[in-house]
Amino acid sequence: MKKWAPLLMMCAACACTATGGGESQPAAPLGDKYATPMGEVFVYPVGHGSVMLSWNGKTIQVDPYSKVADYSQLPQADLLLITHDHYDHLDPAAWKKTVKPTTHIITTAKVAPQMDGVTPQVMQNGEKTAWEGIQIDAVPAYNIVHKGPDGNFFHPKGEGNGYILHFGKFRIYIAGDTENILEMQNWAGPDVAFLPKNLPYTMTDEMFADAALRLKPKHLYPYHYFEADKPALQKAVGKDIQLH
Ligand SMILES: [Zn+2]
Repeated sequence: MKKWAPLLMMCAACACTATGGGESQPAAPLGDKYATPMGEVFVYPVGHGSVMLSWNGKTIQVDPYSKVADYSQLPQADLLLITHDHYDHLDPAAWKKTVKPTTHIITTAKVAPQMDGVTPQVMQNGEKTAWEGIQIDAVPAYNIVHKGPDGNFFHPKGEGNGYILHFGKFRIYIAGDTENILEMQNWAGPDVAFLPKNLPYTMTDEMFADAALRLKPKHLYPYHYFEADKPALQKAVGKDIQLH
């Protein structure tokens, strides 16, 4: 029994959900585990606007950013999603580490020509596609309030994508940089949602709560924030939404 104690401690420390094993076992997937009709999906908020999903031995990376992780230490992407071309979402130092020859890349018309040496699939707002049996919707992500000093919205309508991934009926929505846009009610009720929160680029706490109540996700991950008062946010979105 004694010799298992360090292993169990290690497992607790990394919050892994594997059943344990020898040192030769591959690392357990990172993140929160969800059961879906297409099998288990692990959801890992890497930091800022970066998210990693693990499913069926495959890795989906969203907006990898080298300021929040060393991507040489994370699994390379089988699918890479980029939401828009700001430096904290389109970071060559990160995406070049996460891309391998077989990586499928989905992004916007503005981002694609900025990614040298690869051939991304371009999706416009409102388009749908499929990858490995997962339906992927590109949805709008834009500002309706916050503008830069030049008078233009930080994220103009039609330029950036949010993505909804359908693992059968189980939906994961990764919003990208957006505000509480009315369209969110068109894809209400996702199982998991990532909504951005920070000023001046995305949402205030009030806008975040409004978006959450419009969207009604079961599990809600605030991301892209500098600070977050999670107890206050949980109170604002109500007990039907589990804040992470
Ligand atoms: Zn951003």
